[in-house]
Amino acid sequence: MMVFKNKTIFIVDATANIEPTAEELAEIAMLTAEKVRQLDVEPRIAMLSFSNFGSTKHPLTEKVRNAVQIVKRLAPDLIIDGEVQADAAVVSTHRLSNQFYGLPQDDALVFRRLEKEVVHELGHTFGLHHCHHFECVMRSSTYVEEVDLKKPTPCNECSALLQKVLVQCCLGD
Ligand SMILES: [Zn+2]
Ligand SMILES: [Zn+2]
Repeated sequence: MMVFKNKTIFIVDATANIEPTAEELAEIAMLTAEKVRQLDVEPRIAMLSFSNFGSTKHPLTEKVRNAVQIVKRLAPDLIIDGEVQADAAVVSTHRLSNQFYGLPQDDALVFRRLEKEVVHELGHTFGLHHCHHFECVMRSSTYVEEVDLKKPTPCNECSALLQKVLVQCCLGD
């Protein structure tokens, strides 16, 4: 378990099981989700391997992909994706679409939501934390309605921070 300022990461079974099957991997993921929920954290699972969504064809990456399918079937409420490499950022459109809420399809709306989610996650990769400003893209949003309320851009405060980070990383220290 790694606790950061703006996120908590649980890394499971890096070495514990020798060659777990897809079923075992799925079970590990679901048991972990249960534990994580007990700690009051909403689990978002990334199943790691050495390829991204089939970019490398190999029985081992295939197995992880199968495990993801098993979890999706047995626990459709869980947010899970994979297989991905550990350094890939994942944004899921699953909960962003109107159909998920039984509303008519609206691709333009999904796209606007997706844009905000991507900018938000990129913000984190540049070290931005969650922001309390109502319209700021870095405000944490649990519900899609909250995504709709914010803008696709950071507030002045977050922009200033971002600028500082960019200046530091591009001009050296
Ligand atoms: Zn966030
Ligand atoms: Zn902000």
